[in-house]
Amino acid sequence: MFFTQFQFINTYFRSDPPVLVRDIDNFGDPRIVAAMAYGTGTPQERARHTTLGALEGVLLEKHTVVRDNHWIRPVGVRHRNRSRGGQRYCPQCLGSDARPYLRRRWRLAAISTCSIHHVALLDRCPECTSPLMPHRTALGLNRCWRCETDLALAPALPALPGALAYSELAAAALDQGWVSLGAHTFHYSPLFFVVLRQITRVIASGKRSQQLRDRLGQEAQVSKKPFDLTGRNAIEFLDAAETHRLHALAWPLLKDWPSGYVEHMRAAGVWAAWATRDLLETPFVLRQIVDQHLRLDLYSPPFAEVFTAVRVMSGQGHRISNKGMRRVIGDSHFLGPAISLFRSSITPTPPSRRALRQAATRSASASERHQPPSATRAVIVRTIRSE
Ligand SMILES: [Zn+2]
Ligand SMILES: [Zn+2]
Repeated sequence: MFFTQFQFINTYFRSDPPVLVRDIDNFGDPRIVAAMAYGTGTPQERARHTTLGALEGVLLEKHTVVRDNHWIRPVGVRHRNRSRGGQRYCPQCLGSDARPYLRRRWRLAAISTCSIHHVALLDRCPECTSPLMPHRTALGLNRCWRCETDLALAPALPALPGALAYSELAAAALDQGWVSLGAHTFHYSPLFFVVLRQITRVIASGKRSQQLRDRLGQEAQVSKKPFDLTGRNAIEFLDAAETHRLHALAWPLLKDWPSGYVEHMRAAGVWAAWATRDLLETPFVLRQIVDQHLRLDLYSPPFAEVFTAVRVMSGQGHRISNKGMRRVIGDSHFLGPAISLFRSSITPTPPSRRALRQAATRSASASERHQPPSATRAVIVRTIRSE
């Protein structure tokens, strides 16, 4: 007799601890792992290493069961349904497995390619577009639970070169527990992943992210369109294809570290505050680079200088805009304020005496309801009297 995983778990565990209504790879109760280890004759420690929690100390400094963990893609648990494509797969791996199984790394937003087959990972059934729900089928981990399509037959796209390099770097950090980025070696890989996530995030959202994408998209030869992060402002929520594109965009910042990073961030005007936004504590290696190269106040033109430049440019008949001014004098915190002050200080050309007199005569002879508002009239009269 064949059980689906669902039937088996229901029979074996009932609902304590909760199994099917949880993302057990991420938030698995130790009792489940212990029971699985016992039932399958697997050493406890080995069983634990199939969970995402075991990446504590490698991917994350601290793995938590009370909220989402950085880098771990959510599967969108709703009862026994899964609404999100957090569990991805490589069709070619599934096709070549003696007994198809899902790799733990396929859940991580730091990986978007298969390191063996060099294809982009997928997150849905190619036929019915359902996310993977392996607990709802007895046919095997390579089959769509809903339409029974063999996922190994899903068309695999060759990985974008930058995304492949990005994933390989992350995979090396996961394998070794340390990793080198340019001349710098992270001896503790969770620190590398903090830096990597921050570098990746500023491309996906935030101030000047479009300017940054414009540059990176051109260099990486991939689309620079905005990422849809509405609602959940986290890169873990992007679908498989968008995660892959994001990695390809990020690679020019990582290769030739840190010169590529500094060059692109400066050119796009992503300064220190934006480069390190939301970080409670910026890792020293990033702090140092940002402080040294991305501090706007180090060379930002002062207010008086910016204001004068705006006045001169306007006097020469140039249209005044933030972008145009930035091209001429470089970036400055004072750009916006100086332009607004300049605009508000421009008095419109005063009307001629004759025009004012005509306006006053017209308003005097006009009927009550056509009269200009009294304040306007007062200004006109005052102007005439003062002349
Ligand atoms: Zn593969
Ligand atoms: Zn399907």
